Order: sequence, then structure tokens, then C-alpha cells
Amino acid sequence: MRTDILGVGFDDLTLAEASTAGAALTEAEGFHYAVTPNPEFILAARKDPAFRQVLLGADLVLADGVGIVYSAKILGRPLKGRVPGIEFAQRLVSWMAAHGKRLFLLGAKPGVAELAAARLKASQPNLIVCGTHDGYFKEDAPVVEAIRAAAADVVFVCLGAPKQEFWMAKNGPATGAHLMVGLGGSLDVFAGVVDRAPAGFQKLGLEWLYRLMKEPKRAGRMARLPLVLAYALGERMGGK
Ligand code: UDP
Repeated sequence: MRTDILGVGFDDLTLAEASTAGAALTEAEGFHYAVTPNPEFILAARKDPAFRQVLLGADLVLADGVGIVYSAKILGRPLKGRVPGIEFAQRLVSWMAAHGKRLFLLGAKPGVAELAAARLKASQPNLIVCGTHDGYFKEDAPVVEAIRAAAADVVFVCLGAPKQEFWMAKNGPATGAHLMVGLGGSLDVFAGVVDRAPAGFQKLGLEWLYRLMKEPKRAGRMARLPLVLAYALGERMGGK
């Protein structure tokens, strides 16, 4: 049973439980995909029923960020905690390195995925990165074919939302991969192109504040976070 937060169902898992679930999906027959919604996703899904369906259709829906955790609390349906997509990805990478699974990195500007691959391999020498591709392609078919030819088990799809979620749902089954994870700007972080917030910010759940300080032009997008909390409060007071 999923925990409904304003129309999107979340899996109530700790980071460790989510990683175990991701590993199990990688081992399972067939294609699966995981999404990591933050408050912006929820607002987008309220406006776009097709996006909401793609989120609901995911095999794993992880609460990426403190905004989701607060909303859950306000709604009276607390979650165990947040599961930042990037930390989920790091754990999955360790597991893949230990189990000989093949990782394909898709997304970001040309050259970033290769850099991310090199840095991931430096920290996990046994990791098999079977291929990379940038996120600025016109045709899907050659990318699908590249993933299939690389015999990838897992693909990190980093095209930004909602593009990456639509891409996974549409193209995933044809690639032969077992698990795709939509991870936004994570390849930039793995590549070292963008820094993650310092540990103090991470611990307090204030990564969004750090990003805002670094990139003030994100202010417009981030103003939507309080809006989600207001919707949650409205729903709670409405007695739903
Ligand atoms: N991106 C991409 N293809 C596109 C648009 C974006 O590969 O057509 C990449 C972009 O280079 C960045 C990532 O998607 O690495 C996510 O960007 P953003 O920080 O906007 O996403 P968020 O993490 O906030 O979801």
C-alpha cells in the first residue's frame, strides 16, 4: 500500500529498504522503473494527468526531499523519512559493483556522463559501467539500441523531470534493462560538475536552500515548495 501525498502514491521506505527494493527489481524478470518525486513533481502532476499516471505506474516511488516528508506529516500520514535520489543511487551502485551488474548512464550535457562514470569507477573499482550517452538527443531509437547493445541491467536516466519519467515509461521495455531510475541532475553531481550541499545542510534537509544560495535563479521554481505544504494543509483541514 502506498502513502498518498496530494495524488501521488509514495513507498514508505527507509533508504536501506529502498536500496534493497531496487536490488530486487534489478534481479527480477522484466522491466521496472523508479521515480524520485519532490514537491515540484507533485505540482506538475496535478496539472498534467499523463505525468501523474507515469508516476503512479512506477515500481518504486521514493520521497526525494524534505518537502514530501513535511507534506506527509501535515496530512497525518507520516513517512519513515526522505530517500534522496542521489543516496539511493549511491547505494545501488555499491550493490551493483558487488554483484557484477551493468550500469548505463544517460543524460546531462555531452561529456558529463563519461566523467561521472570515471568518478564512480574510482570509488567502486568493481563497478561495470557498460555505456554512457548525453541527454540532448533528438531520436529515441539509437539511444534505446545503445542501451540494448550494452546489455545494461540498470540505467540512471538524468534528463530532468518530467522528460525522464516519460522517457523511461515509453522506452524502457525495449532496452532490455531491468531497472531505470529517474535521477534529475545527479550525473552533474557524480561528475563533480555541481557540488552536493555540505553535510550540515544535508543533515537538516536543507539541500534545497543550499542550491538556492548557489543558483538564485531557481527561486521561482522553489517558491512552489510552500505551495505544496499549503495544499497539504488545505486537504487536512478539509477533512480528507
Ligand atoms: N538534461 C538533459 N536533457 C534535457 C534537459 C536536461 O540531459 O533535454 C539534464 C541537465 O543537463 C541536467 C539534468 O537533466 O543534468 C537535470 O537538470 P535539473 O537540475 O533541471 O533537474 P532536477 O535535478 O532539478 O530535476
